[in-house]
Amino acid sequence: MPRLCVVCKEERASVKRPKTGEQLCRNCFYHVFEIEVHCTITDNKLFKSGDRVAIAASGGKVLAHIMKTLNDRYNYGLDLFLLSVDEGITGYRDDSLETVKRNQQQYNLPLKIVSYGELYGWTMDEIVKEVGLKNNCTFCGVFRRQALDRGAVMLNTDHIVTGHNADDIAETVLMNILRGDIARLERCTEICTTGDGRIRRSKPFKYAYEKEIVMYAYFKKLDYFSTECVYSPNSYRGHARTFLKDLEAIRPSAIIGEAFQIKQEVKLPTQGVCSRCGYMSSNELCKACVLLEGLNRGLPRLGIGKTNRLRKIHGEMPENTATMLHFSQLQIDGENGKSESDEGKKRR
Ligand code: SF4
Repeated sequence: MPRLCVVCKEERASVKRPKTGEQLCRNCFYHVFEIEVHCTITDNKLFKSGDRVAIAASGGKVLAHIMKTLNDRYNYGLDLFLLSVDEGITGYRDDSLETVKRNQQQYNLPLKIVSYGELYGWTMDEIVKEVGLKNNCTFCGVFRRQALDRGAVMLNTDHIVTGHNADDIAETVLMNILRGDIARLERCTEICTTGDGRIRRSKPFKYAYEKEIVMYAYFKKLDYFSTECVYSPNSYRGHARTFLKDLEAIRPSAIIGEAFQIKQEVKLPTQGVCSRCGYMSSNELCKACVLLEGLNRGLPRLGIGKTNRLRKIHGEMPENTATMLHFSQLQIDGENGKSESDEGKKRR
């Protein structure tokens, strides 16, 4: 005898929820998925009526569909925009941006695309040529975060929503534990943070499992781009993801990172602004400016890792002395044969 949906008890169950193991019919699965995201939004008071919200949608994701659906259904009163980042990855981002452009037509939402090439003078393809495949994601992550904030400012929006889901957060928690980065542990599980100046950044999919998002897109036949980045197989996050997928197979609740609580007495760094570009930073220079300094001077490893020279200098010297030393150190490196590349001189 066919198993009935545990919610409506009328239709035949055709979906087993990865999150709970419950057997549901498709319509009840859609309803439960949408209601859970709606509750995440309302319980955490993510928006207020009249907010201008940029949907970070680089891969034509389910987030745009859900935000549009819930905004219309529950009258959130939001002005929605699509915001995409073009990292300059041939064969990956150029394809996924085509999906986003189709989404713009389907949902009739304004679209803004910001590119690394325009903002930083470097595409990811060029950065990978310079730094290799080991640390490329460090550059990409730092630049993307800033690019989204800058795109949101261009759109004159108050708020960015990102598609980060429970799996993404679990991966970040694991990576921060393995790196011993206590300061980031608490911040990475927050549902809402503040970016550049007044822009809030939130995660309506914080409690949604990636498998359920993919199932939702598949059953709803949404225009969804799911190809992996060509540079991802070597990424640290990729290994963390594989590990968590193995854990999830044994214990699905391993994905929910909410149980992970940081003791309040952990001291977090003080937030200031970068002395060069004005972006938020807890150091004299923001991470993006440090990475760009290295790229432009032909020293791409300068800003990578915790023990980079700049951070050592900043940790040991008063701030203004540290900056002077930073630049004199670069000079010395140049004189030692690692001189600024011609390509680097042309860039910011
Ligand atoms: Fe960027 Fe790395 Fe993600 Fe590719 S895998 S999009 S290089 S962060």
